Order: sequence, then C-alpha cells, then structure tokens
Amino acid sequence: MQFIDLKSQYQHLKEKIDRRIQVVLDHGKYIMGPEVQELEEQLADYVGVKHAITCANGTDALQLCMMALDIKEGDAVFCPTFTFFATAETIGLSHATPVFVDSDAQTYNICPKDLKKRIEAVIAEGKLTPKAIITVDLFGLPADYDALMAIAQKYNIKLIEDAAQGFGGEIKGRKAGAFGDLATTSFFPAKPLGCYGDGGAVFTDNDEYAALLKSLRVHGKGLDKYDNVRIGLNSRLDTLQAAVLIEKLAVFSKELEARNELASSYSEALEGRNGLNVPYVPMDYLSSWAQYTLISEDRDAIMAKLKQAGIPSVVYYGTCMHEQTVFENLGYKLGDLPVAENLSRTVFSLPMHPYMEDNDFKRILECF
Ligand SMILES: *Cc1c(COP(=O)(O)O)cnc(C)c1O
Repeated sequence: MQFIDLKSQYQHLKEKIDRRIQVVLDHGKYIMGPEVQELEEQLADYVGVKHAITCANGTDALQLCMMALDIKEGDAVFCPTFTFFATAETIGLSHATPVFVDSDAQTYNICPKDLKKRIEAVIAEGKLTPKAIITVDLFGLPADYDALMAIAQKYNIKLIEDAAQGFGGEIKGRKAGAFGDLATTSFFPAKPLGCYGDGGAVFTDNDEYAALLKSLRVHGKGLDKYDNVRIGLNSRLDTLQAAVLIEKLAVFSKELEARNELASSYSEALEGRNGLNVPYVPMDYLSSWAQYTLISEDRDAIMAKLKQAGIPSVVYYGTCMHEQTVFENLGYKLGDLPVAENLSRTVFSLPMHPYMEDNDFKRILECF
C-alpha cells in the first residue's frame, strides 16, 4: 500500500497528461512556455485572487515573498513552531530572526493568542522590528484567519499564508491562498495539488507585489533578463510541470471531494476509540487533507502494528522548529511551546489520497 498513491492517480489521468506533455515537446518552449501563463490564469481564477505567479518550488515561493517584503536582518518574523522546516528556513535565509509560536490544541494551527503574546514581547524587548507573520495551513486546514488578519492589522505587520499543504482548503467559501497580503503554495508531488517534480506559486491581489515577484523570479529583471534592476533568483516553473498541473487542476475539485470522503470515513470509524483524537475541522472550514493526522499516546505501538500489516504511516512532525539544532542559538527551552511539543510526541498520519481502494481502507481499520 502507498502512503500517497501517485501512480494510481497517473493511471487515471494518463491519456490527458501524456497528450499535454507531448504538446510541450512539440513546441519546445521549455522555459516560460504558453502553458505557464495558462496555468497562472487558471490558478488565480481557482483561488479567487488577481495574480498567481508560479516559481520553482514552495520554498522559493516563500523566499520570493520575503524578498518582495524586503525582510532583512533585525526583523522579527513570526511562524508556528509545528510546521515543515521550509517555513522557518526562509526567515533564516533572509537574515531575519524567526519567532516561534505555539499551536492551537484543537486545530494544530498557529495559536492567535500565543502569537499576540509573542508580538507584544518582541515590542517590549525593543531589539527586533516585528515585520511579518507566516501562517501555515497545516495538514490542509486553513489557519484562523479572522483572528490572524486582525492581529496583523493591529500591529501593522504583513501576513504571508503558507498554503503549501492548504491549497484547496476554504473558510466560508474563501479559498486558501487568498488570505494573506501574499500567499504561497507548493506543487511538490505529495502535496494536494502536485506536479511531477518541483513547483510552487505565490498568490496576491496586490499589483505592485505581483510585478516585483515577476522580476524577482527571473534574476531581478527589468525590461528583460539582461536588464537587472535588483538581486533576484532563478525560480521559474518548468513548462512541462505547468502542462501536468493544468490537467491535474482540471480534476482537483473531484479529488478534493474524494479526500474529504476518505477523511470522514476515517473519523467516523476511529472517533471515540480508546485514546485516539481524530482531526477537528471548525464549522465553515474545509480541509484539503494534505494529511489525515491522529493523536495518540500509544503512537509507537499503533505505528508498529500498521507497519506489520504493510500499511505505511508517517510522523509529521517529530521535531518542532524551536527544537531544531540549527535554531539552538535562539535559546528556546523545552516547555516554552508546550502544545506543539506535545503534538510532536503524539501525532501520526495515515495514508491519504483520492484513489484509496475500499479494501485498503478496510485493512487499515482492522489494525485499530
Ligand atoms: C512542502 C512545504 C513547503 C515547501 O515546499 P517545497 O515545494 O517542497 O519547497 C513549505 N511549507 C510547508 C508548510 C510545506 O509543507
């Protein structure tokens, strides 16, 4: 059994994807070919924002945002400690200081209350300038943007939504990728909308940011890439990946339904079982189910049992950002971010993809 069955997805879409790839091979415009713009228009439409700017991967998407916001040494950027490393990494790459925030115990997303506390603490200390918050739509569930946008506004700091896992999620019909001043996603193959290699995108309603991002992703270009007006990156989405994504986006809504059905079936079957916590989705929220994640004090025993039955399960994430070796110098101690620390000791994720067979689903449940 696969944790995320990309082969089965390809078998479902093979004819269409093969045809799209062949079109690219025939026209030969491998860099910034017409499929890239076609995809960007479709992505902006889907998310409901003015601009989608594709790039080489989800980490670069965050990095491009940091560059567009001119985040630099002496700035404080707040992010959840319970996330994938890339979120915090791009803060370090910008020579700013990451300030880690604890998780909400119900949703596992960044806790607005703790965020406020930590912004106040940075202001009181007076050493760093609070510049931005990077929120993460963890495991596919959008963060609490009503509260988070109010905090960003109150302290006049920018909000970047890291929707690498959240693409397809919603709050009251508003799509993930539409919440921050800037939002990012990743098309890494295992993400809800994945390509066949690396890819990413930035979303924004702001025309100035969009123009800046288009320059930054091509060596800080001015009139063209031989006219350089700023330091940028080489971070474009390959035309071939855009071609794959156009076909995958066409079936994405259907896949999202299948993911939600699988998540509901899991939760129905597992809720209330001894010591298991199933994921919580607040009212009016829709998750894209990048992961289906359970909590148990007996995690290791359950995962061993699954493994014995040939069923893959994975821990996302076993180490919080404030516990990572590279951030030791920031001086966090065990107990500083207790909710996240507890999550890292108890979470584990089950196979989740839109093409799960009934038989596989039954085999997974039997292990519980
Ligand atoms: C995957 C991921 C990224 C990075 O995306 P890449 O395309 O792998 O660079 C960033 N943030 C989060 C939360 C992710 O899950």
